[in-house]
Amino acid sequence: MRDTVAASGVPRTADAVVVGGGCMGTSIAWHLARRGLGVVLFEKSHVAAGATGHSGALVRQHYETRLGIRLARESLTFFRRFEEETEFSCDFRTTGFLSGTRERDLPAFEALFELLRSEGVRADRLTPSDAKTMEPQLEVSDYAALVHDPDAGYADPIATAHGFAAAAVVEGAKVFDDHEVSSIETRSGKVTGVKIHGAGLLSAERVVLAAGNWTRDLAATVAPRLPVRYVRGEVAILRRPVDFGAPPRIHFDFYGNTYSRPEGEKDTLTGYMNTDPRKTMPRHEFVESLPAVTVRDLRTRLAKRFPRMNDAQPRGGWAGAYDVTPDSYPILDQVGPDGLFVAVGFSGHGFKLSPEVGRLLAEYAATGKRPKPLVPLRASRFAEKQLVHADAPFPGGKKRRIP
Ligand SMILES: Cc1cc2nc3c(=O)[nH]c(=O)nc-3n(C[C@H](O)[C@H](O)[C@H](O)COP(=O)(O)OP(=O)(O)OC[C@H]3O[C@@H](n4cnc5c(N)ncnc54)[C@H](O)[C@@H]3O)c2cc1C
Repeated sequence: MRDTVAASGVPRTADAVVVGGGCMGTSIAWHLARRGLGVVLFEKSHVAAGATGHSGALVRQHYETRLGIRLARESLTFFRRFEEETEFSCDFRTTGFLSGTRERDLPAFEALFELLRSEGVRADRLTPSDAKTMEPQLEVSDYAALVHDPDAGYADPIATAHGFAAAAVVEGAKVFDDHEVSSIETRSGKVTGVKIHGAGLLSAERVVLAAGNWTRDLAATVAPRLPVRYVRGEVAILRRPVDFGAPPRIHFDFYGNTYSRPEGEKDTLTGYMNTDPRKTMPRHEFVESLPAVTVRDLRTRLAKRFPRMNDAQPRGGWAGAYDVTPDSYPILDQVGPDGLFVAVGFSGHGFKLSPEVGRLLAEYAATGKRPKPLVPLRASRFAEKQLVHADAPFPGGKKRRIP
């Protein structure tokens, strides 16, 4: 990279530009910089200002496709070694993951359990009474069996994005907060750079859009429109009663459509997990505050699984927008002009996948050769009617699950 710098401090050239300072953009920037590329990342607000900073940040391997399990498994391995890899902490906490099935869904449960085991996930099959011993506050009377993944956990999503960004800087990348990319520049079917609001042009032959809920519209200025829609996601924080006992593990209730995990020592974070089409939003902007009635509704839902949570103290919450594709898997591809890459449509799974997706997309952008795991995630799969399909569908219904 030639080291010419504009008066604003923004270089005039780079090997690669990354747009967006969420967990994806920062992970991609770090992986590109480690490969020796001169990388500049632009974030229009501040690192982790988007979905990343609002994420539940659950990291689980419980997926219904081999592809999803593999991406999650590699990413979980990375999260557990985040500090050794990057020299920064993401505060990953191993909690374990529990999810149950009812009698009628046992065949689906067994198939999913086998799929997880065949992919090397350390999943244990529990009886309801085993689970009650392990998680005394959990209501298990309607469950016929449960799966336990002892390796799952959660991280601090803000620390994760900052950790990746700081590690990228150590590798020579430049990261600019408060710099909005206003257009993608092209010539003769190739990317030539980006225009930065108030800071002129930067030339680069690779531009990676990891701008979260803004990627679809930014890409559409130079490439065919991507099939991404926005769905409102809500998260509440509840202070557990003092006699609740030990913090509970991550729990997915496929029947009540809720998930929960500990938040620090005393609180529980809970959210809805279905992409109900009635929640589709016309726009992608965040609606950050959560009405008290929604927080109480989330508490009521959670209390069906953890009855002691009826006495939990609401401590607020927030809403964000999920970027959802028709098959709930992301689009990780080169689209439109040569040199334009997108990482979008994470459908509520983006945080946990960010280490491995960052690695794969950086490989693609740096070498021009698409890594094999990205083939099923190509943009053209929707037109080709080759959507990602479940290898073993989740027990308990047909709704798509997030996060
Ligand atoms: C409520 C909620 C709960 C979730 N829970 C989980 C979970 O438990 N586990 C999980 O795996 N996933 C979860 N997700 C999903 C996950 O958080 C997202 O998939 C992930 O954070 C997306 O990261 P990103 O980097 O792609 O996007 P973002 O974090 O949104 O980052 C994009 C960034 O791009 C910036 N930007 C946009 N346009 C421009 C521009 N023109 N120029 C410069 N910068 C720009 C934005 O300011 C933003 O900071 C959740 C999401 C929500 C909303």
